[in-house]
Amino acid sequence: LPPADLVEQYIKQSKVIIFSKSFCPFCNQVKALFNKLGVKFTALELDELENGDAIQEALFARTGLKTVPNTFINGTHVGGCDDTLNRHEAGQLLPLLHVKTHDYEYDLVVIGGGSGGLAASKEAAALGAKVAVLDFVQPTPLGTQWGLGGTCVNVGCIPKKLMHQAALLAHGLQDSRAYGWQTPESIEHSWGTLVEGVQNHIGSLNWGYRVQLRDKNVEYVNAYTTFVDPHTLRTVDRRGKERTITSDKILVAVGGRPRYPDLPGARELCITSDDLFSLSHPPGKTLLVGASYIALECAGFLAALGFDVTVMVRSIFLRGFDQQMAEKVADYMERQGVKFIRGAVPTLFEQVEEGTPGLVRVTATSDEQGTFSDEYNTVVLAIGRDPCTKDMGLNNAGVTLAKSGKIIVNDEEQSSAPNVYAIGDVIEAGLELTPVAIQAGRLLARRLYGGATKKMDYQNVATTVFTPLEYGCCGLSEEDAITKYGAEDVEIYHNGFWPLEFTVAHRPESDCYAKLICVKSQNELVVGFHIVGPNAGEITQGFAIALQLGATKQNFDDLVGIHPTCAEVFTTMTVTKRSGKDASASGC
Ligand code: FAD
Ligand code: NDP
Repeated sequence: LPPADLVEQYIKQSKVIIFSKSFCPFCNQVKALFNKLGVKFTALELDELENGDAIQEALFARTGLKTVPNTFINGTHVGGCDDTLNRHEAGQLLPLLHVKTHDYEYDLVVIGGGSGGLAASKEAAALGAKVAVLDFVQPTPLGTQWGLGGTCVNVGCIPKKLMHQAALLAHGLQDSRAYGWQTPESIEHSWGTLVEGVQNHIGSLNWGYRVQLRDKNVEYVNAYTTFVDPHTLRTVDRRGKERTITSDKILVAVGGRPRYPDLPGARELCITSDDLFSLSHPPGKTLLVGASYIALECAGFLAALGFDVTVMVRSIFLRGFDQQMAEKVADYMERQGVKFIRGAVPTLFEQVEEGTPGLVRVTATSDEQGTFSDEYNTVVLAIGRDPCTKDMGLNNAGVTLAKSGKIIVNDEEQSSAPNVYAIGDVIEAGLELTPVAIQAGRLLARRLYGGATKKMDYQNVATTVFTPLEYGCCGLSEEDAITKYGAEDVEIYHNGFWPLEFTVAHRPESDCYAKLICVKSQNELVVGFHIVGPNAGEITQGFAIALQLGATKQNFDDLVGIHPTCAEVFTTMTVTKRSGKDASASGC
């Protein structure tokens, strides 16, 4: 083909093409930009082609630009290095990636304005798609409702972490006297002030999200949404006004809500985490039912705030987590005054007194105690969460659900209906964590509208349980490592540690503990990282990248520690569990 025709063919064949020279630093800048944005591109290195000069001449004739790089997106001429970078700065580069090929009102409608939905919608709009977010919060049985932002912001991570902080301050106050502060022996805590501060912060976040959507050209509709068919949705707003919306692609990011057991009095007399963080009165003597993340975190901060707290544990603590670590978390909480009723489940809730708080009699059964009962001012149910898929008409769209009610998706977050996608808490076999929903949403938008191919990696996602003594982990539990590699091939290094800040405050030496789980036959590849101690969340976040990059025990040994910190324990671990040697804390 003549060079001019060849140029046309190259431009037509690639969504993004950079006519480039392999040694050119300006070309590298443009390539780096697209790499950073996760956008797939073709770089045609003219210096490596026999007819490179002729192609450059033809480009000059077509564009008036003599030099490289020379960038085209979807056939539109963007220009050279500065043109490309400046267009990106002005927010006008990525929208070129998207070309409308359908007659629906929107390119993408996202159902659910939580962590995942907001992230995906903003990213898709930035890539030029016409996007709407449809979000609606059904009130709890108690009538609690909240604004835009989903679970994390309103009734999850954010209020939980702020209340955890209130709990840490209580511990700090206890320690403060040993450090010379003349704090009174007894200090009153105001639940009302805490709730007001937390709710004010949440209110500012709700507002911020609305502004962000407007700034990013995402339409926000505050309405409950159901499927009519794979491309058609019906929305009903607060006033009962209905609207029909059509969209080429639909993303379901509706998350989940706390589960209520089918027991008398459960919905009428108990609350869940959806109510706790905005409770208008102090909860008083509280029972938490469940022994996972939510139950233990809430029990931890309520006890530190001075409430009488009991946790009813059906079987084990923190199912799915390393059980040695889970027991350590629970031991510490027990020593901090949290009472555990093990091996028990509630069977009946009855009102003893009305009021704020009132009094509820809880009848329960356990193998050990048979049937027994006690009275509590507040009962918090934390027995798991159900996906919000029940009344959404997903069958009208041909979306297949798992037995759990969650949406089955492939590794590109695509459901059984090819134009319907799902992310976040609502997907089967996902991870119910905010950063997971956000990352999956962003990557999906980039694949749908940015020409990217990168998929969400659900492996080695770090997490932290924000109990009074935090538990951070990444990778496999000891149990899972043994199942996967066999006990003989798993080497576990461990160490108790006594944080320096605990010493003067006379806190026990044996509370904090760290372990690394390694695979012997793979050069002691670290496949599990676990720590119970102060700031475990912050520590684990940093080390998670080491696991992602395939760090070995030797890499941890080679790392020079920061002294005096808790994290440095990972740089000096020598005792293996197999050896049976003492791994308890040993001074500085
Ligand atoms: P969500 O954030 O739940 O958003 C879904 C939105 O869709 C909601 O606004 C919902 O009202 C709306 N919706 C539902 N159905 C419809 C419909 N039919 N039409 C319109 N709108 C609809 N994760 C962490 O990473 N760290 C933590 O510390 C942490 N702490 C948590 C503490 C608690 C108490 C809880 C409950 C959760 C916590 N999580 C934490 C989990 C985290 O909050 C979730 O993983 C995350 O919010 C999930 O995001 P999502 O986008 O999937 O759904
Ligand atoms: P989970 O599903 O993780 O745990 C449910 C708990 O309730 C288990 O202890 C379970 O016991 C118990 N349970 C279930 N049914 C009953 C019943 N009928 N009677 C008594 N007990 C029962 O739920 P959570 O609500 O704690 O958490 C949901 C998700 O939210 C988590 O998986 C997590 O991903 C996310 N999250 C993340 C946080 C973070 O990152 N820090 C914090 C909070 C939540 P059993 O073990 O016997 O089944």
